[in-house]
Amino acid sequence: MSSSVIDFITTEARFGAHNYEPIGVVLSRGEGVWVWDTEGNRYLDCLSAYSAVSQGHCHPKILAAMVEQAHRLTLTSRAFHNDQLALFYEEIAALTGSHKVLPMNSGAEAVESAIKSVRKWGYEVKGVPDGQAEIIVCANNFHGRTLGIVGFSTDPETRTHFGPFAPGFKIIPFGDAAALEKAITPNTVAFLVEPIQGEAGVVIPPAGYFTEVRELCTANNVMLVLDEIQTGLGRTGKLLAEQHEGIEADVTLLGKALSGGFYPVSAVLSNNDVLGTLRPGQHGSTFGGNPLACAVARAAMRVLVEEEMIENAARQGARFLKGLQDIRANTIREVRGRGLMLAVELHPEAGRARRYCEALQGKGILAKDTHEQTIRIAPPLVITSDQVDWALEQFATTLTRDLS
Ligand SMILES: *Cc1c(COP(=O)(O)O)cnc(C)c1O
Repeated sequence: MSSSVIDFITTEARFGAHNYEPIGVVLSRGEGVWVWDTEGNRYLDCLSAYSAVSQGHCHPKILAAMVEQAHRLTLTSRAFHNDQLALFYEEIAALTGSHKVLPMNSGAEAVESAIKSVRKWGYEVKGVPDGQAEIIVCANNFHGRTLGIVGFSTDPETRTHFGPFAPGFKIIPFGDAAALEKAITPNTVAFLVEPIQGEAGVVIPPAGYFTEVRELCTANNVMLVLDEIQTGLGRTGKLLAEQHEGIEADVTLLGKALSGGFYPVSAVLSNNDVLGTLRPGQHGSTFGGNPLACAVARAAMRVLVEEEMIENAARQGARFLKGLQDIRANTIREVRGRGLMLAVELHPEAGRARRYCEALQGKGILAKDTHEQTIRIAPPLVITSDQVDWALEQFATTLTRDLS
């Protein structure tokens, strides 16, 4: 490593809060599925900023929309109208079939906004006694890092010494519809769940789970809130992961790829009167729905559809999954995935997944470990067959070596 790379890393460590443990690579440029480090080494990005860069790094059309808008108008606040917000609403509603939209910035803000909205709906529409609203969530969830959200996390690392936390959440196992049925009470306003648990290590629920969940929520007048911040916008090979089971959420949360990685843009989408309960002054965000965010998100959604990235995610995801399944290595315990949301879980004896990610870095692949034993694989949705095949060769040679 040259001294400059070491300087970047040590300077970060010296001045920054140590709330991340990055792999030792300093990136300075990206294009499509590729990123380059400060020394000019090229890597295939198999993380895509946790799926925020689904459209590929520095997509030229999103870039053009951002630059063009930045020259005209960036921020008005919602105290005034701007000429991008209505178009963003129209286009995201048409794309997703939603009736109402609430624009926010980060994913966690979208989750918080949904929690506020379903509670308000519970009191004002469902008739739950004030202060009694319950929201059901799943064990091993990941919905973000705000106090409200980490309060219902089951990961000790995420929660420890951040309390006291807000009450009103009930935790049940993921993928267990009977547990949901048992947990619902007359005060339950919502079930908040990820279609596939991404941060937990790409955990896919049993087939039929969401059909049952949908029926239970409908039967009990409970809002089904799907956190599609990671699974949404083509990542799993469908526009929304809910489509794999042919269901529709009452509230859908989008973020990450909604801006193609250019800018934080998130949204709460609803199909009913949940967002209708919010009146002027009751919720907001200085940057939420700003013209720059809207222009970027409009371009990010447009290229996703026009360039057939969702279909490509389904096709290349199947190829990647099959290729991973064909790797004969006794380090591998399980391979799973849907679309381009994939994971390789290693046997505990194989050693930490981090070691394999560092070895992959040496072969020109950037992937990220999660929960000690799992390598998560989520390249941009623009990946080609040749690039998938090349990546598979690197995974095969790395995973057949025992790094324990
Ligand atoms: C990333 C993520 C979030 C949080 O998004 P931020 O933009 O980091 O706040 C919420 N839910 C899911 C499922 C995510 O993957």
